[in-house]
Amino acid sequence: MPDCGLDNDVRYLKGVGPYRAEAFAQVGIRTLRDLLNFFPRRYRFFGQVKKISQLVSGEEASILAKIDWVEHQFNRRLPRTIVHISDDTGFALVRWFRSPYLREKLITGYWVKLSGKVTFASDGTILTNPKLEIFTTAPSDTNKAYTLPVYPSIQGIPPGAMPGIVNRAIDTCQTELDDWLDESVLQKRNLIPVRQAYRWIHKPEEQDSWSIARRRLAYDELFFMQMGILLSRRQRISHTQSIKIFNTPAIDIRIRNRFPFPLTPSQNKVINEIAGDMRSDSPMYRLLQGDVGSGKTVVALYAALMSVASQKQVAIMAPTEILAYQHYKKVTQYLDGARVQIALLVGGMKKGEREKIIESVRSGQVDIVIGTHALLRKDVEFANLALVIVDEQHKFGVAQRATIQSKGQAPHYLVMTATPIPRTLALTIFGDLQVSTIDKMPPGRIPVKTILYRQNQLPKIWEFLRDKLNAGEQGFVVYPLLHASDKIELKSATEQKKILSKEIFPEFNVELIHGKLKSGEKRQIMQKYARKEIDLLVATVVIEVGIDVPDASVLVIEHAERFGLSQLHQLRGRIGRGGQQGYCLLTANLRTEEAKKRLGVFTKTNDGFRIAEEDLRIRGPGEFFGTNQHGLPELKLADLIDDYELLLEARRDVENILKSDPQLEAKNHQVLKHELKYRLKNKLDLISAA
Ligand code: ADP
Ligand code: MG
Repeated sequence: MPDCGLDNDVRYLKGVGPYRAEAFAQVGIRTLRDLLNFFPRRYRFFGQVKKISQLVSGEEASILAKIDWVEHQFNRRLPRTIVHISDDTGFALVRWFRSPYLREKLITGYWVKLSGKVTFASDGTILTNPKLEIFTTAPSDTNKAYTLPVYPSIQGIPPGAMPGIVNRAIDTCQTELDDWLDESVLQKRNLIPVRQAYRWIHKPEEQDSWSIARRRLAYDELFFMQMGILLSRRQRISHTQSIKIFNTPAIDIRIRNRFPFPLTPSQNKVINEIAGDMRSDSPMYRLLQGDVGSGKTVVALYAALMSVASQKQVAIMAPTEILAYQHYKKVTQYLDGARVQIALLVGGMKKGEREKIIESVRSGQVDIVIGTHALLRKDVEFANLALVIVDEQHKFGVAQRATIQSKGQAPHYLVMTATPIPRTLALTIFGDLQVSTIDKMPPGRIPVKTILYRQNQLPKIWEFLRDKLNAGEQGFVVYPLLHASDKIELKSATEQKKILSKEIFPEFNVELIHGKLKSGEKRQIMQKYARKEIDLLVATVVIEVGIDVPDASVLVIEHAERFGLSQLHQLRGRIGRGGQQGYCLLTANLRTEEAKKRLGVFTKTNDGFRIAEEDLRIRGPGEFFGTNQHGLPELKLADLIDDYELLLEARRDVENILKSDPQLEAKNHQVLKHELKYRLKNKLDLISAA
């Protein structure tokens, strides 16, 4: 698609020029295509122009009339301008207060368009301070409703200039805006041509045309996103062959005997899915999701042991050292007395110890290695890595995931996440993964009770906590900050540790844990806590991910509005895991609507999926995952939740296109290919595949 006007610099568009081009560049608008994809934030709809005789008191209306006579009454307490107007149906009076500047503008014989609320006032006027447009002669064709788009403001571009500039861009491009979708797709999905969609999204004639245009353009966003995802999957699968891992009844029984409980039906279903994948020589690529405490680790360990039974190695990667250590400890416990060799590899290890482990991984002596990012380092090599298990996927980026996979010959890949991914996101960010869901908790789990308190009810919270500590249970208190800050007035973990241990709970052992501690120190504290030598742990979000302490029953979170919904849910999942009733007690500042909404959802439901979906809805997909590390193209018009059906349709259409023309070589796919490159620029490294 060479020399396409759509890709021309905005600078050369009439009304832009070098100075404004610079301003546009600041917000990423460089070409006409960029400009077309810069959508209005909202619209102002103006109704149809009425005749004077049609006006009804109390309604908003616009009229178009000729000025017959203008009176300026400046001698009154409230200076006013009274204008006598007429059209072919009648006469009327209109007034403005305190508007001396109108003296030069309103001239007998000129035409005016007036918009405002009609009220029949005692002085005979029908409109007060209406919005005003002046025409020197009778304007033609104004008897139409019209819309004014309002764009996000750009520094250096007057807001009033935007509609004109965008309109010119559309006019200029009009003939070049060939549709990238086939007529048949448009018909099947009931979509309008892209040319019309851009026109309407920027200047809808009415509210209906806006939603029709939005639907088309939202479809395009989802379509290109899916195309990127499917291309990346194809690229990966095409040149990889992995090791087949077989399960047999004997192996199955041996593995199950390792667990002190029977697996739940939910766990069994997921294990079947995993075993089915690993039997194949194309690599498994599966997301294992389930709420906190639903028993994912056990499932992952099952998969690991299948691999070990075939004499192949397994790497388990966790996002924090505490978590890696905890997995290590758990796995060691389950495998007590077995011949399986397990090793821990984290960053904080002594050099000699590290090298020893790396060597035994390389020689194939170690069967299961559990670690953090440390596993990603170059010097970590495997003898025969067949399975990679990553816990808490969204903490790792795409690049890291590729690194660990490159350490084996297309190892099977299992991702666990305790932040349930709403189905929409599973299809988008993780669109190239198969999804397994553990949807039922292991038996005996009582849902945590969540209660939101006001700041001044804090003493109540401490009394409640005291009762529980006296009863031999343990608690967590979480703060958003480690140290006090002079910028924001928030309590910090460091300060509160002092207050809680000295003033409030002097009779108990209160400790502080946070992310800045060395891994050894953290581990020590967690071990002491597990041995119940610590009653109350004051923490930052370091405990967010994965820590399992069965006797902790009370979780207090101060400044709860500072945490994301999913983060809160993760924290809550840490308690009440030993079969006792758990309590999550919150204090929060509810001054923003968003905080109210989020915490409302959080106190009402324990369902991780509901919470994740709300979180996504409130914060958007980028925020949901912390950063935009997943290369998710920006969705400006599409909504991952509300447009789910549209997403599925787009997905199917993409599959069809790639099936018939995998390289996008067909002549009628060249516009599509060009647009694909534009949409996914720098975002997904896979366009080379197309
Ligand atoms: P997740 O990793 O999903 O947060 P875990 O695998 O750590 O969950 O399991 C949470 C707790 O539930 C652990 O203490 C584990 O021993 C227990 N558990 C797991 N599966 C079962 C089961 N089938 N029956 C009873 N308890 C189970
Ligand atoms: Mg876990």
